[in-house]
Amino acid sequence: MAANTASVQPGRFRVLKQGAKPVDPNPGPVVYWMFRDQRVKDNWALIHAVEEANKAHVPVAVAFNLFDQFLGAKARHLGFMLRGLRQLHPDLQEAHQIPFFLVRGEAEETIPNFMRECGASLLVTDFSPLREVQKCKEEIRKRVSDFVTIHEVDAHNVVPVWAASEKLEYSARTIRSKINKRLPEYLIEFPTLQPPIAKWVGTSPAIDWDGLIDEVLRKGAEVPEVDWCEPGEKAAMEVLKGSKNGFLTKRLKGYSSDRNNPLKPRGVSGLSPYLHFGQISAQRCALEARSVRKLSPLAVDAFLEELIVRRELADNYCFYQPQYDSLQGAWEWARKTLMDHASDKREHIYTREQLEKAQTADPLWNASQCEMVHYGKMHGFLRMYWAKKILEWTRGPEEALEISIYLNNKYEMDGRDPNGYVGCMWSICGVHDQGWKERPIFGKIRYMNYAGCKRKFDVDGYVAYVQRLGATKKRKLLLSE
Ligand SMILES: Cc1cc2nc3c(=O)[nH]c(=O)nc-3n(C[C@H](O)[C@H](O)[C@H](O)COP(=O)(O)OP(=O)(O)OC[C@H]3O[C@@H](n4cnc5c(N)ncnc54)[C@H](O)[C@@H]3O)c2cc1C
Repeated sequence: MAANTASVQPGRFRVLKQGAKPVDPNPGPVVYWMFRDQRVKDNWALIHAVEEANKAHVPVAVAFNLFDQFLGAKARHLGFMLRGLRQLHPDLQEAHQIPFFLVRGEAEETIPNFMRECGASLLVTDFSPLREVQKCKEEIRKRVSDFVTIHEVDAHNVVPVWAASEKLEYSARTIRSKINKRLPEYLIEFPTLQPPIAKWVGTSPAIDWDGLIDEVLRKGAEVPEVDWCEPGEKAAMEVLKGSKNGFLTKRLKGYSSDRNNPLKPRGVSGLSPYLHFGQISAQRCALEARSVRKLSPLAVDAFLEELIVRRELADNYCFYQPQYDSLQGAWEWARKTLMDHASDKREHIYTREQLEKAQTADPLWNASQCEMVHYGKMHGFLRMYWAKKILEWTRGPEEALEISIYLNNKYEMDGRDPNGYVGCMWSICGVHDQGWKERPIFGKIRYMNYAGCKRKFDVDGYVAYVQRLGATKKRKLLLSE
C-alpha cells in the first residue's frame, strides 16, 4: 500500500507570528517545541514541522523544555513524563533521524535562546489552552527574532479548538453538532511521518535520563510515583488495544454497563494519563474505536462522546474563558445561586489539611480521596461526588474550587489538564450543566449525596476495595483481573 503523504490541513494550525522577510535567502532550520503532545506517532505538530522543513529543504529538530516548576507537578507526574520522553528520544533520533534537545528552565527564555543558537526560522508548537502555556508563547513571540515565524498546531483535539467553535460554548449540547459536522474533515487517518530531507548540522548532547529522573523523584517525593500505569507510547497503545488487557480488544463491552461503577475500574478505558501527557493521540483512539464500532455500538458511541465531545468541550472552555478556574468563570445564574447560599449553615466545615488527609466523617469520600492520593486516579463517577462534597464542607464556593483544583492537580495522574479545571467547575459551579431544584448550600447546582451513591453502586464494597488495595502492586492486579 502506498504511504499516505497527505498534508496537515490548514485549519489544524494557526500562525502566531509571521516572520519578516530575511535578508539571507537561505532560511534556517525548523524547531518543534514539544509540550503537550509528547509522542512521535500520530502527532500533527511533528508532522507539520517535518513537512515545513522539507518544503524549505532545511533541517528539523524537536526541543523539549523541562520547567523548574509547572503547576505543582510532583514525582508522580514528572517521573511518568520523563520516562515517556526517555523512550521517545531514541525513537525520534534513531528511527526518524530527528534530533531531540532537552533544555531546562523557563521556556520563554530557553526556547528563544535555542532558536537563536541554531538560527531557526520557524518555530512549531503544539496547543494547550492553559494560561501558563499561552502566556509563555506570548513571551516567546516577543523574544524571538523578527525573522522567526511561529505556527501553533492543535495536535491534541480531533477537531482543532478554533475550528470546532469560535466562541465559549454553553454545554455539550451546543458544541456536539459543531464538532460532529467537522469530523469527516478532521477524523482522518494520519499521514506517514516523512524522513527529514536536510541533515541537522552537529549532534544533540546526550541526556542523562537517570540523573534527571532521580532529581525529579527526589524533589517531588511528597507525591510518589505509582507503578500500575506504565509510561510511554507503547504502553498507551497496549491500554488502548493490547491483546492482554486492551480497552478496545478486551474491555469495550463493559463501557456501556460498568463505566459508572467505581468497583469496576476495568469498565473505563484508563487512557487519561496517556491523553494528558500526549503519549497517545485522541484521534488515534477515536479512529481505532470507530473501526470496532460494529462489535459494540453503544459502548463506542459513549466512549466517543467522552473522548471527543466532553474532552474538547473542556478545551473550548479553557480557551475561551480566561477565568476557567474561578467563580468568575461560572455563568451568571450559577454565580448568583452560589452566592445566595454562600453563608448557609454547613453540617461540617473541614480545612484543606483535613480534606487532604481524608479526615472527614464520610467513609466514601475518604476512600475516594485515598484512591486519588495513593493510586493517582480516582474513578470518574466519584470525582463528581468528591468535588461536590468539598462545596458542602467548606466556607464557600471560591474556597471549594480552590481546594478541589489544588488536590486534583496535586494527586491525579491526569491532573493539571483542562478536563480537571472543567470537572471542578462543573461539579461546583454548574459549568456546562443546567440549574436544578434549589436546596441549601448548593442552590441550583446539581446535588449528589451518599444515599444516591448507595443506590448506584456497592459503597461499602468500594470502601473495602480501596482499603484492600494496600499496595499499588495490588491495584495492578485488580486492573488486569
Ligand atoms: C471533579 C472532576 C475532576 C476531574 N479531573 C480530571 C483531570 O484532572 N484530568 C482528566 O483528564 N479528567 C478529569 N476529569 C474527567 C474524568 O473524570 C476523567 O477524564 C476520567 O475519569 C478519566 O478516566 P478514563 O480515561 O478511564 O475515562 P474514560 O471514561 O475511559 O474516558 C476516555 C477519555 O474521555 C475523556 N473524558 C472522560 N470523561 C470526561 C469528562 N467528564 N470531561 C472531559 N473529558 C472526559 C478523558 O480524556 C478520558 O481519558 C474530572 C472530572 C471531575 C468531575
